[in-house]
Amino acid sequence: MDHPELQSRPASPLVEAVDERFAAHGVRLLLKRDDLVHPELPGNKWRKLAPNLRAALEAGHDRLVTFGGAYSNHLRATAAAGRLLGIGTVGIVRGDELAGRPLNDSLARCAADGMRLHFVSRSRYRAKADPQELAALLDEAGAGGAYVVPEGGSNALALAGCAELGRELHGVTDVAAVACGTGGTLAGLAAGLAPGQRALGVPVLAGGFLAAEIRSLQTAAYGGPVGDWSLAEDFHHGGYARVPAALESFAADFAARHGFPVERIYVAKLLWALTTLTTAGTFPRGTTVTAIITGRP
Ligand SMILES: *Cc1c(COP(=O)(O)O)cnc(C)c1O
Repeated sequence: MDHPELQSRPASPLVEAVDERFAAHGVRLLLKRDDLVHPELPGNKWRKLAPNLRAALEAGHDRLVTFGGAYSNHLRATAAAGRLLGIGTVGIVRGDELAGRPLNDSLARCAADGMRLHFVSRSRYRAKADPQELAALLDEAGAGGAYVVPEGGSNALALAGCAELGRELHGVTDVAAVACGTGGTLAGLAAGLAPGQRALGVPVLAGGFLAAEIRSLQTAAYGGPVGDWSLAEDFHHGGYARVPAALESFAADFAARHGFPVERIYVAKLLWALTTLTTAGTFPRGTTVTAIITGRP
């Protein structure tokens, strides 16, 4: 029997957004309110974590360990999941200069949810890609034997959770668009869509490394690339967590027009990209585009 917190949840709401910038080009805009899929764990973080939590409990683990930066939504979601399930969580945080300082709001929430935080230098954090370094790091963090959720939560099980998001969109859209950090959500979403539907990812980090990353996530989960997906690479606005004034005012205006809170690090960049691509005539008239609202501020 599943833990009650892990039973499958109803599909997240899908709503039409009437917006003249899209209507003028014959494009229908839908919002997939995945930020509402779980009361405490928004959107894709829930979809990625739930199958991992199930696997951890089935294998008899009573602790999870994961990794992230000082503002990581993934660390916060993992800490909240640990509290809901009554299992321990350890967060390995990038940047040992943070160790002696007061916690920022995000890390303070992790700690309040019972997550034990372990700060490490940037070089040791990077070195965790090596299995021996990782084992030593987990030992030092007192997390030996804990279930390991990778940085950003993107692994094969996470992709399976996000494929469910794709299945919820069968028959209702031509394009399903999502903002990308690690690319795990896009990788699973694309796998879950029906033939003829396509997924469009908007990377919020600069760098151009993401397509290879998504191919390797899909190869680990499915043995090779799956689904019809592509990336719109020019909408990172300078990099992760950069919110220039023009993006800020676009997001505030979008929130006011459509009556929901627009998360700035990911969702604002997605909505900007879709508005720009639509007004540039990228989508043929008659296209239905769904913006996946992956989180809330
Ligand atoms: C983490 C996050 C993403 C990125 O998901 P990936 O699977 O890492 O690409 C997108 N939107 C929000 C709101 C997030 O918190």
